[in-house]
Amino acid sequence: MIAGHFGFAALVKSREKSTPLWALMLATVWLDIVFTPLFVAHRESVQTVREGYGGLIIHADYTHSIVGMLALSAALGAIFLPRLGRRGALVIALVSASHWVLDLVVHRPDMPVLPGNFGNLPCLGLGLWNFPRAAACVELVLVLAGAALYWRAAVEVSAQAGRTGTLATLSAGMIAAFGVLVLFLDYTS
Ligand SMILES: [Zn+2]
Repeated sequence: MIAGHFGFAALVKSREKSTPLWALMLATVWLDIVFTPLFVAHRESVQTVREGYGGLIIHADYTHSIVGMLALSAALGAIFLPRLGRRGALVIALVSASHWVLDLVVHRPDMPVLPGNFGNLPCLGLGLWNFPRAAACVELVLVLAGAALYWRAAVEVSAQAGRTGTLATLSAGMIAAFGVLVLFLDYTS
């Protein structure tokens, strides 16, 4: 899931207007950003179970473990604390944690409780990726709902500032187009 995370960030932006969209976008993929160097260093890996969208078991045993997710989300919140204040930092940490919740829905049971799957506890994942069309629909709904709510909020902000809603409509359109494009590329990969 990539597009769905961005859709969720846009959705949060519509409620948390003072938190910058870029920071929310960053937070929403933070766990996957940290995953990248670990993947390159072969500490985390990806296993293909079938070709195409969602055909993966992701061994992200550190970044996507419950404890790892909580630590990374708290760390990102702490990084943003001086810039965004308490509430903004909390929002950032929660959005980072939301990545794990959305991943939980689509991942096959590959997300451990403890870092490195310590203790070999059962891994978590509801496995919606076994039904690619349904998973893609969830992502599409997140993208479109995120863009729509963002648009409504941005138009409101523009009106309050005495500006036309053109820029708001343009940016919401770009969010929707970007999300749909990412989903399309992911789905047809
Ligand atoms: Zn992830």
